[in-house]
Amino acid sequence: MRTIADLHIHSKYSRATSPQMEVGVLALWCRKKGIDVMATGDFTHPQYLKGLKEKLIEDGSGLLEIKSKEQGAKGKERLKSKEEREKKIKFILSGEISCIYKDKDKTRRQHVCLLVPDFETVDKINVALNKLNCNLKSDGRPIIGLSAKRLAQICFEANEKTLVIPAHIWTPWFSLFGSKSGYDSMEECYEELTPNIYAIETGLSSDPEMNWRLSALDNITILSNSDAHSPRNIGREANVFDLEKVDYNEIYEVIKNKDTKRFLYTVEFYPQEGRYHFDGHRKCNFVCSPQESKNKHKNICPVCKKELVLGVEHRVDDLADRKLGFRPENAVPFKSFVPLQEIVAECFQKGKLTKTVQTVFEEMLEKKTEFDILLDLNRKEIELISNEIIAEAIMRVRNGKVYTKPGYDGEYGVVKVFDEEEIKKLLPEQNKLF
Ligand SMILES: [Zn+2]
Ligand SMILES: [Zn+2]
Repeated sequence: MRTIADLHIHSKYSRATSPQMEVGVLALWCRKKGIDVMATGDFTHPQYLKGLKEKLIEDGSGLLEIKSKEQGAKGKERLKSKEEREKKIKFILSGEISCIYKDKDKTRRQHVCLLVPDFETVDKINVALNKLNCNLKSDGRPIIGLSAKRLAQICFEANEKTLVIPAHIWTPWFSLFGSKSGYDSMEECYEELTPNIYAIETGLSSDPEMNWRLSALDNITILSNSDAHSPRNIGREANVFDLEKVDYNEIYEVIKNKDTKRFLYTVEFYPQEGRYHFDGHRKCNFVCSPQESKNKHKNICPVCKKELVLGVEHRVDDLADRKLGFRPENAVPFKSFVPLQEIVAECFQKGKLTKTVQTVFEEMLEKKTEFDILLDLNRKEIELISNEIIAEAIMRVRNGKVYTKPGYDGEYGVVKVFDEEEIKKLLPEQNKLF
């Protein structure tokens, strides 16, 4: 059974996160988007965890469901067919921790995602962290002074089936390989525990192909998650499995063994759209490719003369031992997409959160899920629930026919389907159709 899983998001208790980020609203959006397994996020936060225990029930498979009264009238209304009603969203207990510590004479900052099969394990991890004076109350994604390796140790002691996943491993400031405070190899960080780290997360600014340039990652499972801070962004990156039984064990086994039979593909952002793809300085309004930084600027900003924030592509290039385009034998494939609301926004030449765009987006999701639309429906079927222009845009995204302007130093990049002249001509037609 095709199972779409988003294994990293944040709750309303994390900084800069929508107040809507709690399981009821998440389940609603999972249905609209076609996500089957959703991370709870933030299991280390006492108040959020209390809510999770009240609202979710362990279904005996290592995953959780919403207790039925929590679905509420609005939720029920949207479940159209009997199958849909039966197909409940499964939650997986997840958290992300920010480890900031000194190791080998350098300050290290690394985000680490955790997945566990039950509340018992969550409690054990939280108790252990509290004993070590970690302040879990401060934020949904708490900052702790322990090393990523020590954190992994604690998690494996609590339950050997915890999945410890270095998050968005290339972002400059807070990641395993980050240019500002990371390591050059997995072993340098996790030492003898390295064989127990089965997966990494690409983050929005890198895609699997970039990661395939490192032979050191050949046996690691490459995951992609949304890291969403608002319900509309869930599933913007995701993992597509083919599972016999949707349970924690099967997901664990697929990830542990990098089982390419049951891991069909990942859904990716175009990495250029991520906020740290290229090098640059946002304040100086300066952006350049890694080649330009290296050869022309010696990594120094020509405006302020300070060191540039080196993006993900630069860092990959520094650590890679292969050229772009190499594909390891056991690689899990991937598909690059633009989120549907961004496609609709471009077709209307309006902001993504404007009323027109949100109305059309939500009307489409009343008829089909976002993943149905992006992955499965043919052109005619998409036209029927939208129009020719939106259908054309989706076809182009599927075929990789897009224009990109890379993001840098925290600024999102831009991915466009139409060039300016073309969309100017199409726009009157588009506006007529709605
Ligand atoms: Zn993070
Ligand atoms: Zn500068």
